[in-house]
Amino acid sequence: MKQAIIAQVAVPVPLYSLFDYRVPDSLAECIQVGARVEVMFGRKRLVGMVLGLGSDSQLPVEKLRPVETLLDTQPLLPEDILQLLQWASSYYHSPLGEVVFTAMPGLLRQGQSADLRQVTSWVLSERASKTTAEEVHQQLARAPKQAALLDYLRHQQPLAVSADVLNRDWESWRAPIKALQDKGWVETRLQNAMDGVTRGSGERAAPQLNVQQQAAVDAVKQSLGRFDSFLLQGITGSGKTEVYLELISEVLARGQQVLVLVPEISLTPQLTQRFADRLDTTIASLHSGLNDSQRHNAWLHARRGLARVVIGTRSALFTPLPELGLVILDEEHDASFKQQEGFRYHARDLALVRARNCAVPVLMGSATPSFESLLNADRGQHTKLKLTQRGASGARPPRVSLLDVCHRPMEDGISDRLLKTIDEHLQQQGQVLLFLNRRGYAPLLMCHECGWTTACQRCDANMTLHQHNRRLRCHHCGHETAAPVQCPGCGHEELYIPGAGTERIETRLQQVFPDVAISRIDRDTTRRKGELDRKLSEARQGEAQILIGTQMLAKGHDFPNVTLVGILNADQGLFSADFRGTEHMAQLIIQVAGRAGRAEREGEVIIQTHHPEHPLLHTLLESGYEGFAREAIEERRQAEFPPYSYMALIRCESTQKAYGQAFLDEARAAFDYHDVQVFGPLPAPMERRAGRYRWQLILLAKARKVLHGACRHWVPQLSKLKSANRVRWSIDIDPQDMF
Ligand code: ADP
Ligand code: ZN
Ligand code: ZN
Repeated sequence: MKQAIIAQVAVPVPLYSLFDYRVPDSLAECIQVGARVEVMFGRKRLVGMVLGLGSDSQLPVEKLRPVETLLDTQPLLPEDILQLLQWASSYYHSPLGEVVFTAMPGLLRQGQSADLRQVTSWVLSERASKTTAEEVHQQLARAPKQAALLDYLRHQQPLAVSADVLNRDWESWRAPIKALQDKGWVETRLQNAMDGVTRGSGERAAPQLNVQQQAAVDAVKQSLGRFDSFLLQGITGSGKTEVYLELISEVLARGQQVLVLVPEISLTPQLTQRFADRLDTTIASLHSGLNDSQRHNAWLHARRGLARVVIGTRSALFTPLPELGLVILDEEHDASFKQQEGFRYHARDLALVRARNCAVPVLMGSATPSFESLLNADRGQHTKLKLTQRGASGARPPRVSLLDVCHRPMEDGISDRLLKTIDEHLQQQGQVLLFLNRRGYAPLLMCHECGWTTACQRCDANMTLHQHNRRLRCHHCGHETAAPVQCPGCGHEELYIPGAGTERIETRLQQVFPDVAISRIDRDTTRRKGELDRKLSEARQGEAQILIGTQMLAKGHDFPNVTLVGILNADQGLFSADFRGTEHMAQLIIQVAGRAGRAEREGEVIIQTHHPEHPLLHTLLESGYEGFAREAIEERRQAEFPPYSYMALIRCESTQKAYGQAFLDEARAAFDYHDVQVFGPLPAPMERRAGRYRWQLILLAKARKVLHGACRHWVPQLSKLKSANRVRWSIDIDPQDMF
């Protein structure tokens, strides 16, 4: 074979091509596809990724700039990940360089070494291992602290214990450990840092699975070793996680690794702990709550096969796992699996691609599957598995009822009827969970005299009132001002406060139940690091009797003592501008309702609505999620909307209204393909945001191939259009929301 002299390099820039660099002789032997290099790009020195090696270039070799440095002597990204990224770049019409660099943790993107960091750790010396605990105690009789530390290290054996772990478990340990070392009882050792990595104990026994759980486990087990996809539809609390754990154990026993993807909100230390208690293995977690060095270390542990289970959010999908045996995606319908900026991929869809490439099965679980997955199951692409009973013995599904709040006394967003029911549940030592998808005190302030409202200057939206500091804040652009006392329009002395957010509900409840512990869980009360976890575990232990919160509270968390769930405003999703609005509303209602009565007590769910006659609410209550989905999917079919068609959205933003429209007009004129419908340019549902005007062009086709064939030629040309430099634009394939 001819020596490779030219490297095709992906760099993190928004351009659709790879760039050729000359490989200097000194690197020719060791450069490999999948390794990082440093190259000059324009005047900048960038970290790039080698995606191809060859001897041809469209430019004369002498004109090419050289690769400056080779950062990895082994490929950092393995073949299967590169293949996945190339596929994704082509499917999402995203520049390959951006795609490749999204897939790596930040420190690696910046060029940091891929060697595992080593830290000093302590273990028993050989002498101490051979000596019995009693003998040691006799010899250390006058140094009880040293004796206790030595016992502790003995218990940890064969693991060496790092400073991090000692800091966690001991108040002071340096002096006694030094003494033990001097006496020859303890010695040091270098071992891999464990940031972002948990050593599971597997101490907790698995429950005896019920018949349905066992059937689900068996079905997936039969497909291990080849590609297959399963949709596990199980009501909240039906034991989906137990099914995952059983399968993970099986895959680990076969010497393979498992990738578990979960939504942003549900990945808490409690979930990792639940896995660690059940699995005697090394678990890497990957999510946005970690710092750079934890993410870096966890990723490298997975890459090298040292971590056998990876549990992470969306971007963990791209973690290299040399011995991948199974992919699990929990709450597959969750919107957080879709990246909403830059490279807008869907982790569920890419998980299926990855699994197919690696010939392993995928298990997707949800109480409320997405319409896409339900339809795919109906079409035979996924095998459907069902769990219809609650896992814990005796737990029954809750009673659900609608509470018509038209013409009823309702102060501060919560009806008297609901307050009465809350009181009854509290009397019987029940815990109450109230859900409202709106934070702050009220969505706006207004003047009854002149019609003035708290419109944001930079967005087509009102600013939300936050009462605790009397500030108005725009939840779309972050703009903030002091809340006025009188009307700034006409000077009228009283301002009206319509509507309610979680803060207002909390205030009202404090007035009605002054002696009851109330906990509000939303983005405003959980800003500090660790605060959400603290509040959730407090809620779980029943320290707070009333929980009020937004989505954060609704998803994936287990509150065994909750007996009453109140959904305070179910109406938002009923009249959404977005075609997925009702789907998301139904999923949220079912998810929230599922928090009630998880243990022995029967639960009750009350849904406050101004539209008790709405057919979708009725179907949802009478036929459950499946019946609802069947009807709503049929509506999509008639409207020829996804999942019965395939959509792409071109979004564009500009400082002047006319620019965006002009760009999309030009883009539309350049679009000349059959069998694709084009809608727009249309103003976005929120036309102005953070001072920028937003427009969209919608493409819709019956066949995926047709849409993508057209986009393949058209999208790369868009940046070359005359009006393109006055706007920021992006493409969203399979958009999840239209805002
Ligand atoms: P899901 O993931 O579907 O919400 P979980 O797996 O968290 O459900 O199960 C809900 C509760 O029921 C947990 O406390 C779990 O330990 C318990 N559970 C699940 N399956 C069983 C079973 N077969 N036997 C006993 N308890 C179970
Ligand atoms: Zn006024
Ligand atoms: Zn704003």
